[in-house]
Amino acid sequence: MQVPFVDLRAQHASVKDEVESAISGVMEQAAFILGPEVAEFEKEYAEYCEAEYAVGTDSGISALELTLRTLGIGEGDEVITVANTFIATASSISFTGARPVLVDIDPETYNIDPAAIEAAITPRTKAIMPVHLYGQPADLDPILEIANRHGLAVIEDACQAHGARYKGKRVGALAAAGCFSFFPAKNLGAYGDGGIVVTNDGELAEKLRMFRNYGQREKYNHIFLAFNRRLDSIQAAILRVKLRRLDQWNENRRRVASIYDRILADSSVICPKVADYSEHVYHQYIIRAENRDTLREQLDKRGVATGLHYPVPIHLQPAYESLGYNEGDFPVSEKIAGEMVSLPVFPEMTEERANYVASQILELTG
Ligand SMILES: *Cc1c(COP(=O)(O)O)cnc(C)c1O
Repeated sequence: MQVPFVDLRAQHASVKDEVESAISGVMEQAAFILGPEVAEFEKEYAEYCEAEYAVGTDSGISALELTLRTLGIGEGDEVITVANTFIATASSISFTGARPVLVDIDPETYNIDPAAIEAAITPRTKAIMPVHLYGQPADLDPILEIANRHGLAVIEDACQAHGARYKGKRVGALAAAGCFSFFPAKNLGAYGDGGIVVTNDGELAEKLRMFRNYGQREKYNHIFLAFNRRLDSIQAAILRVKLRRLDQWNENRRRVASIYDRILADSSVICPKVADYSEHVYHQYIIRAENRDTLREQLDKRGVATGLHYPVPIHLQPAYESLGYNEGDFPVSEKIAGEMVSLPVFPEMTEERANYVASQILELTG
């Protein structure tokens, strides 16, 4: 049996007719930039996230960077985030001129350890950026409590967590703003790049709309200088089709996860723990194994593709040498980076394939 890591072609096949008619609708309207499809999608996505406003952008990293800029964060400021995440979390902070200040993760959830945040706060700290990594919400209440006490903004990096819930509420608008990516392999993926910010703050949304569009309030009235970071109308039209399936797709991901959980429960590998405050959407299903590289090779020989998210924590990336961190600074992140393997989990995955993957791991690791 062959099990790919993701299968975007299978997903396309399941929405082909609707996607093709959505695309040709945009072509016939010829409203390619910030047309009605973008406005409609923003309305629908805000509603989906139980938020007031949504502002589409050209990527997840733009959503994060523009949110930080809109909150006035830049040169001389610090933003606290985690060592275990995708590079874009940290680099969105760096691109504003601010400095990412890293903290370690919780060993059970692999998300930011709220208990480590306070020690990282300095007079320059302006915000905290928790990441809902792998599709599981970070523990926001203690983070919001710390943020309120110190007067800091909280921006959710929800790029891997479309539809996830924290204590019953959708992630995204639980603090100042939440940012999502529509990179094709995310839980809600475009046919190219895209992103969005959701918020309940009308002023923030208004300013974000200007920030993504040349600092323009109305046509040719530019209040400040800004780039073009808009979400495409064609992508928005496709995302509207796919948004209607998102809950079902997330449910399918949870079904695959529950098969892995069940078969691997008594094995020697460590399965993900779901905190009682979370509804996980399994952007990734991460296991931990002692001989991770050998296991991946053996799985590959048996037709199972796996991934690594992420093999090198942010503080050990060559691009961040200048931050001055050393090996050993974030021991939990470093340990997990060396042990984890991401298993295939995608909505179109059959039960048979999930059973196959889990039983191969059981056979190989005992
Ligand atoms: C994908 C991702 C991003 C960046 O999204 P892009 O659309 O690729 O710019 C940021 N943060 C996290 C945690 C991500 O997984």
